[in-house]
Amino acid sequence: MGQGGGEKRHINVACIGNPNCGKTTLFNALTGSRLKVANWPGVTVERVEGETSYEDTSITLVDTPGIYSLTCYTIEEKVTRQCAMDDEIDAIINVVDASSLERNLYLTLQLLELGKPVVLALNMMDVVEERGMEIDMHRLPELLGGIPVVPVSAARRTGLDILLHGVIHHCEEGMEEYILDYPQEIEEKITELTAMMQVHYPSHSSARWHAIKLLEDDEEVKQEHPISVAHVVDRSYEKEIIQCKYAHIEKVMGEILFYKKKKAASTDRIDSLLTHPLWGIPMFLLVMCLVFFLTFTVGDALKGVFESGLDMVSDAAAGLLEGMGAAGWLNSLIVEGIIAGVGGILTFIPNIFILFLALALLEDSGYMARVAYVMDSVMGKVGLSGKAFLPMILGFGCTVPAIMASRALETQRDRRKTMLVTPFMSCSARLPIYVLFSQIFFPESSALVAFSMYVVGMVIAILVALGVNRLEKGSANDSLLIELPEYKRPNARTIRIYVWNKLKDYLSKAGTTIFLASIAIWFVLNFGITGLVEDPAESFGAMLGRFLVPVLAPAGLGMWQIAVALLSGISAKEVVVSSFAVLFGAAGSEAGMGAVVEKIHLLNPSFGPLNAYCLMLFCLLYVPCVATVATVKKESGSWKFTLGMMAFQLFLAWLVSTVVFQVGSLFL
Ligand code: GDP
Ligand code: MG
Repeated sequence: MGQGGGEKRHINVACIGNPNCGKTTLFNALTGSRLKVANWPGVTVERVEGETSYEDTSITLVDTPGIYSLTCYTIEEKVTRQCAMDDEIDAIINVVDASSLERNLYLTLQLLELGKPVVLALNMMDVVEERGMEIDMHRLPELLGGIPVVPVSAARRTGLDILLHGVIHHCEEGMEEYILDYPQEIEEKITELTAMMQVHYPSHSSARWHAIKLLEDDEEVKQEHPISVAHVVDRSYEKEIIQCKYAHIEKVMGEILFYKKKKAASTDRIDSLLTHPLWGIPMFLLVMCLVFFLTFTVGDALKGVFESGLDMVSDAAAGLLEGMGAAGWLNSLIVEGIIAGVGGILTFIPNIFILFLALALLEDSGYMARVAYVMDSVMGKVGLSGKAFLPMILGFGCTVPAIMASRALETQRDRRKTMLVTPFMSCSARLPIYVLFSQIFFPESSALVAFSMYVVGMVIAILVALGVNRLEKGSANDSLLIELPEYKRPNARTIRIYVWNKLKDYLSKAGTTIFLASIAIWFVLNFGITGLVEDPAESFGAMLGRFLVPVLAPAGLGMWQIAVALLSGISAKEVVVSSFAVLFGAAGSEAGMGAVVEKIHLLNPSFGPLNAYCLMLFCLLYVPCVATVATVKKESGSWKFTLGMMAFQLFLAWLVSTVVFQVGSLFL
């Protein structure tokens, strides 16, 4: 225990628990903001350390990745298990979600076997009370070998002092002596192995835990502490050991949990519909459809207000600049370049806001967990890991964090496959593109058309996954281990933070990337070999665009303006929209984006709904934004993979939109 000496005592404590049981919330509540962030040795999983103190003891707390078991299959498990066994760690706070205690206790029983002091933090007590559940606080510690059990609510910061008190005093008592009684045959083997461990590794602190792991035939333990045990371990006893733990948990639950009133019935009833093997996926599509309907109708009403605001700003700026006698080119740069480009993006704030609000509500109410559950079997069928669903759902928001989330997958092959398909999930930056073109070209059914983009994206993701799987002939099949949480009323604060963070990202992108891109586009379109040009058709942009026209023509996108817009969209997808605003001069009082369609028709009378649909398809599928590309490079660590992926997406975008255009032209 610490390097105490005469002054303050010091201990190291790890927070360990299942995913989503509130470890990080508790960790933050205990440590405040003095954090030290690094990576766990050898892997790209974040390691966060913080300081706190209680009475005369200073405590270093370590937050660990959530795990369900002390096995060694996933990166999270490896990291957390290493941390738990580390001699530097003096005690463990086992954070459990008290509202689903039964699932959480499995890890608890394993932690107890380690022999280190363990304190049980029963988190989410607010939820337990809300649901009318009651936990017997006297009986529970008794059944867990006498460890301190402290009810807390990390979110409401209750019970934290008592928890620290429990940790410090339990730490002084030293080793855990808890023993779960296995059947006699196994107990005898454990005793024998423990004795052998103590002979071979006398300084080892958790001999019994290692003995059990040897019986479970745990590869890592066998490698780290090789002793010849073949005569004792004639086969793996893992199954029996697991069963025995679950039997004990059942006994514990039977004795300590009471319901004051029943509530779960409604959850069950809703779930029988939402997670139905047949209706589950259609229900999900229906829910998403509803989300986009809201995004469109409500978002649109508000968007009108933003647009007239933009017109006013634009007119005022033009008037002001003229009044000041500013040069024509400066006026054009500010009004047609910057205000049209950045402002055009800002008018989509209502749509973006509603999209994220809806996603936040779905997430926080517990519905997204159900979708993951429903999708799990489908994911397995197309050769994606069940865990790939989280990155894919995140992809509806922004591809960058979604790609990062693919870290949760075990093998490099699974991670890369997930990175490959995630960009096909339409991110929020593509929403303005869909809104703009579906409203201009499909005024009657704009929501449906935009929704179809999301469906096409998902279908393509599935097809690509299937294709890759066929090529590899391998199948990755670790299914999700999700226990469905109960539905809960979404928390206003959580939602507010979530939505605000997303909006902030969107706004800061408008202020940086899109601002710069708008200026760049304005220059490219207003300068040619002769210097400042009157007609954009003589600009550098037009020259570059015309170069690409023959390639894009089969897809119905043979206009140099579109080529320029698509190129600029690589900086950020929204820039496609600002480019259109700049390219087709939709600034000022010319009825906002509505002017775009007139200009397009003026230039190319045959550009109709089919072309617009192909344009949307192309935007959905082609190279994602630079931020995503950079993230893929970072996460995959390979330029070959990253560039290969970009080439593939570009080709796919061209192929799909060309096929749709050519086939569509036959009928329309
Ligand atoms: P971790 O995965 O274990 O680090 O879990 P987090 O700390 O990220 O928490 C998961 C979710 O549980 C978050 O949405 C928290 O706001 C929520 N949460 C954490 N503690 C409590 C609590 O005591 N009560 C309630 N109602 N929610 C909590
Ligand atoms: Mg966490």
